[in-house]
Amino acid sequence: MEEIKEENPTEEELKEVHKELDQRLRQARATAPKYAPLSLDINAQTATFKGSSGRVYETSLYTCTCRDYSIRQLPCKHMYRLAQELGIFALPPSKHWGGWPPEIHSVPAQKDRIYCGAFENLSVSELSETTQTAKVGGFLTSLSSCECRGFHETGIPCKHIYCLAIKLHVLTRPERTTEMDRRIEERYNLIFKPKRKQ
Ligand SMILES: [Zn+2]
Ligand SMILES: [Zn+2]
Repeated sequence: MEEIKEENPTEEELKEVHKELDQRLRQARATAPKYAPLSLDINAQTATFKGSSGRVYETSLYTCTCRDYSIRQLPCKHMYRLAQELGIFALPPSKHWGGWPPEIHSVPAQKDRIYCGAFENLSVSELSETTQTAKVGGFLTSLSSCECRGFHETGIPCKHIYCLAIKLHVLTRPERTTEMDRRIEERYNLIFKPKRKQ
């Protein structure tokens, strides 16, 4: 990530990396309040972040001790957040709802989640147009985050977020089709049938 602040030819290459969907998802997540740094050293250009497991990650513009960085060796959300805090990297403006790259919603798995969010009759309470939050299916949900385990693990929009987005009219409700109903039902049976016998 050091190339970001240096004006050398590889900057263009790196810019391309930042445009990839995987990276833009990390950029979108980095803006969430819960990813605010625990500490920030502006001179050293380092920060610490609280990890999901309670660990503390040490982050610089070059590296991060989180699992995501160690696996991919590409900028993680902590590095993007640090770069933003230092004014080096502008995280995507939230012109798209939730700050999500719009094409994420076209991925098949996400289309399923949108469908579930629209038609699973999830309970919605405490809906606020002002804060754009609600309790969906019992989880406190905003357009950019959700308390549920699925969101916690994947960091990509869950059915609760999509349900809220539809309620707030930032996302169009998909058309109901028997084919999709069948597909969702099949998947549901696959996952939940053992539990349903109880
Ligand atoms: Zn990290
Ligand atoms: Zn959720």
